[in-house]
Amino acid sequence: AKSLGRNNFQFFTASMNDEAIRFFNLENRLRAALDQGELVLHYQPLVDLRQRAVVGMEALVRWNDPEQGMIAPGEFIPVAEETGLILPLGEWVLREAMRQNRVWQEQGYPLLPISVNLSPRQFRQRGLVETIRAILAETGQPARLLELEITEGALMQEVGETLSKLEELAAMGVRLTIDDFGTGYSSLSYLKRFPVHKLKVDQSFTRDLCEDREDAAIAAAIIGLAHSLELDILAEGVETAEQLSMLMGYGCHKFQGYYFSRPLAPSQTDTLFHPSSIL
Ligand code: C2E
Ligand code: CA
Ligand code: CA
Ligand code: CA
Repeated sequence: AKSLGRNNFQFFTASMNDEAIRFFNLENRLRAALDQGELVLHYQPLVDLRQRAVVGMEALVRWNDPEQGMIAPGEFIPVAEETGLILPLGEWVLREAMRQNRVWQEQGYPLLPISVNLSPRQFRQRGLVETIRAILAETGQPARLLELEITEGALMQEVGETLSKLEELAAMGVRLTIDDFGTGYSSLSYLKRFPVHKLKVDQSFTRDLCEDREDAAIAAAIIGLAHSLELDILAEGVETAEQLSMLMGYGCHKFQGYYFSRPLAPSQTDTLFHPSSIL
C-alpha cells in the first residue's frame, strides 16, 4: 500500500508539471496571438420571432491559429481568465465589436446592439466603466448599442461593488444581460435591485427541453420570473422547431441558436442580418 501511495504521488506531480507546462505555453502563445492580430470575432444573430427580425448580435471570440486553425473560446478563455490576459483580451473584444458595428452602420445595415461577454475578472476590474466610455467615444457608438453579458457568479461576488458598477453602466445607457441564467447562484432579491435588462436562459435547459420534464420546468420558471420582474428574456441554444415552439408556449419570443444561424464571420452579412428561417 505504501509503494502504491508513492507511485500515485509521483504520477500526480509528473502530471501537474505537464499541466503547468501546457498552461504556460498556452499563455505565451495566446499573448503573442493577441499582439499579432490572430484573434477574430464571429457574430450570432439574436432574433425576435414576434417582430420576425434580428434584434442584435452576440460577439464571440475565436483564435485563428496559423497552425491549428480556429480555436474555440472554451479552450483559451479559462487560461486568459486565470493569467489576467483576459483584461487586454477583453478590451480588444469590446473595441473590435464596436468598430465592426460602425463598419456595418457605414455600409447601411440597420442599427443593432452588439452583445459582448464580460468575464468575472473583467467585470471586477477597476476602470472598466472608463474604458467602456472611451471605446464608445473612439468608435462613435451610442451606449445603447452595447449590451454586456455577465454571469450570475460574477454578479453575486461583492454585491455592493457590483451594484454601483451596474448602476454607472446603466446610467450611461449600456444594456445589461445576465448570461447562462439558472446555472449559477442568483439571489432573487438582488435580481430585483440590480439594473439588469435581460436574462438569457442557458442552453443546457434548452438542449433537453423536449425530453426532460425538469429542464422544461426550469426553463418555464425562468421565463415566468423574467416576465414578473419585467425583464427581457431570450433563450439560447435553440436548434429545433420543437424547442422553439415549447419556449414560445412558455412566453419566450427571443432566441439565439443554430436553428437560426451559427456564429459567423462579420462578412457573412446575408445570413447575419437575414437568417432564412425567420423570413
Ligand atoms: P456563451 O456566452 O454562453 O455563448 C454561447 C455559446 O453557445 C457560443 O459558443 C455559441 O457558439 C454556442 N451556441 C450558439 N447557438 C448554439 C446552439 O444552437 N447549439 C449549441 N450547442 N451551441 C450554440 P462559443 O462561441 O464556443 O463560446 C463559448 C463560451 O466562451 C461563451 O459562452 C462565453 O462564455 C465564452 N466567450 C466567447 N467569447 C467571449 C469573449 O469575447 N469574452 C469572454 N469573456 N468570454 C467569451
Ligand atoms: Ca454570452
Ligand atoms: Ca450564454
Ligand atoms: Ca454557456
